[in-house]
Amino acid sequence: MDIIEKKRITELPKHVADKIAAGEVVDRPLSIVKELVENAIDAGSTSIVVEIKNGGKSYIRVTDNGSGIEKGDVELAFKRHATSKIRNASDLDSIQSLGFRGEALASIAAVSRTELITKTADEKSGIRIRLEGGDIAEKVDTGCPEGTTVIIEDLFFNTPARLKFMKPDATESTLIIDFISKMALAYAQIKFRLINNGNILFSTTGKGDIYSNILTIYSKDLGDKLIHFKEKSQELTLEAFVSAPSQSKTNRKSQIFFVNGRSIASKVMENAVTDAYSEKLFEGRYPIAFLFLQVSPDKLDVNIHPNKKEVRFDDERAVRDFIGSAIRTNLNSKDAIAEIKKDQ
Ligand code: ADP
Ligand code: MG
Repeated sequence: MDIIEKKRITELPKHVADKIAAGEVVDRPLSIVKELVENAIDAGSTSIVVEIKNGGKSYIRVTDNGSGIEKGDVELAFKRHATSKIRNASDLDSIQSLGFRGEALASIAAVSRTELITKTADEKSGIRIRLEGGDIAEKVDTGCPEGTTVIIEDLFFNTPARLKFMKPDATESTLIIDFISKMALAYAQIKFRLINNGNILFSTTGKGDIYSNILTIYSKDLGDKLIHFKEKSQELTLEAFVSAPSQSKTNRKSQIFFVNGRSIASKVMENAVTDAYSEKLFEGRYPIAFLFLQVSPDKLDVNIHPNKKEVRFDDERAVRDFIGSAIRTNLNSKDAIAEIKKDQ
């Protein structure tokens, strides 16, 4: 019998642990864009510019006009589990911000070349910090406007296995464009601008009108086909744009779900949509549905995965029934289509 050598346990060096953990948060350019845009929103920005090159693989820049980070906190922002958004475990039960895990900047910096330029309203000058694979390479004072710019270059330059798994530029950029399009809808009060390889893809007005953003981002044609309604129960509020059954699609790509301002994937919401159209659509046909749901934060767990792509509802049945019946009622009301025309 072979004698198996007993290996001793050692604690991993910080940079190895960081690279492992980073994989949970940052798996492709989209996850970086998502984290940076969420940070910009949490910072109270009214304007967010996202620029990408080569599907985000070589270059991602997110510029906001939010609160900025105080000079003394800039290095801390890149430490794992360092956050200004929650203070203790009980805060996890009622999360109002998009971020709370304090790991995005640490994870992103661990697997890229990162530059962050930031200034708060109270400080005369700002600060520019540059990190390479998580290590600080430069930190200098700089003149800059209030807010924060983060530039990510050469994603996964130090993790060859991940680098290999990135998809072609067009695949990565499509995911990012889809995501920013959704965020621009959900956060219609924020001006979004998206630049891809030097071309401006769209700019929204920030005037708070979801419907006009649908027209700007998706097309006038699509907008004309949607039924708009708002429904409220004691615990849930829904704003929705859904298509008449005659405008169905062959896949679910035109179904967009937001819960408390988070873009999520949700079987519960998907099933609710399917319920609502069950007698109106053949199998394999899917309606367009943009759903913006608000749930009391204590009836929802947003902390079920590091990438925050899913949430867990306390009462899934209630959510499914509420959305299903809200859509059904509004589809049946002939006035709905007239209503949206009148809104214009
Ligand atoms: P989290 O968002 O979960 O707190 P992050 O790693 O994404 O963790 O960010 C760490 C901290 O850095 C945030 O809590 C916030 O205080 C600060 N921060 C990051 N991005 C910005 C930004 N764009 N504007 C202002 N502060 C920011
Ligand atoms: Mg964050």
